[in-house]
Amino acid sequence: MGIYKAYKFKLYPTEEQRILINKTLGCKRFVYNHYLNYLKENKGKSKYDLYKDLPKLKEENEFLKEVDSTVLHSAIDDLCKAFNDYYAKRKGYPKFKNRFNKQSYRTSCVRGAYKEKEYSTIEVDLLSRFIKLPKLGRVKIRGYRNKERIEGKIINATITREYTGKYYVSVVVEENILIEKVTPTNIVGIDLGIKDLVVTSDGIKYSNKKVLMKFEKRLKRLQKELSRREKGSKNYLKTKEKIARAHAKIKNYRKHYLNGIANEIVNDHDIIVTESLLVKDMFKDKKKAFNKSLSDAAVSTLRSLIEWKSKLKGKFYYKIDTYYPSSQICSNCGYKNEDLKDLSIREYDCPECGSYNDRDINASLNILLEGLKLHYNLQSLV
Ligand SMILES: [Zn+2]
Repeated sequence: MGIYKAYKFKLYPTEEQRILINKTLGCKRFVYNHYLNYLKENKGKSKYDLYKDLPKLKEENEFLKEVDSTVLHSAIDDLCKAFNDYYAKRKGYPKFKNRFNKQSYRTSCVRGAYKEKEYSTIEVDLLSRFIKLPKLGRVKIRGYRNKERIEGKIINATITREYTGKYYVSVVVEENILIEKVTPTNIVGIDLGIKDLVVTSDGIKYSNKKVLMKFEKRLKRLQKELSRREKGSKNYLKTKEKIARAHAKIKNYRKHYLNGIANEIVNDHDIIVTESLLVKDMFKDKKKAFNKSLSDAAVSTLRSLIEWKSKLKGKFYYKIDTYYPSSQICSNCGYKNEDLKDLSIREYDCPECGSYNDRDINASLNILLEGLKLHYNLQSLV
């Protein structure tokens, strides 16, 4: 099985390389903003239409030819992803990039052969501590002191310039490993939501952490502060840096928390089932909508963590259909209770069989049952 791993190094570019990195970041911004403008007037264009248009843009703007061309493609990819997030109501309308935003660009590794010699555009040499990058050539790196080499196939590299003026490179590698599937002895259904992030069919609940809310409040305050500052001024940059630090803190905290939950779930179970939708509860008022977008992000991160860890450990992970009304069906007798469309009902006795149900635990039990069906259907095909 191919798994992806990321290695992050500190980068020490020479003056010349630094200039080229900054130029590349500028070109990426230029392409992103150009097509953002273009899409405002040309609705319904696809990613491939933009790819096709790119050579023309390069003819009109010679400076774009000086930088790594895969970066310009990735600017289009990023823009299309931003629009997809917008249409899926995960994020707001894409904004123009300015040079005060976080700066990074991704370059894909291209392989080939020339005069019977194989080459690849990105190479990492841990012994002499250099990375070969497209256009930049060999750049000095630091990190992974105890490793002699990186196993696997390099997929891409992301070069980042921090507010502090420091440079980093993150290299994504595909490693092929052999994993044997376990013989399953237990199963868990997981209901993902807003109030409780996770409710398992074992009856365990993980809440959306309060601490996180505190960090997020601080972040909102800082963003207000930023809007009062004069763009590009010293104080503006200072606040911008504080925001970056707050973002990093939230990201780390969330990563740590979600990783812990995913580990517990995957370590303790052989078959894991979740729903394929993001969050089913819809909110009208703004404050709750804000919380919703946060928990949407947490839910999708958590699901991919569970998926990835299940693969690594040879466990089974299933996603079941979105339209399956997991919270309305009694997990004991199968009776569908339409009253439960009212989301404020958190617990109830089933009008058919009389069994007591906690709304979320009942939902996770139904998810478990659907997953079990799916598992046996799939296994009987093998
Ligand atoms: Zn019932």
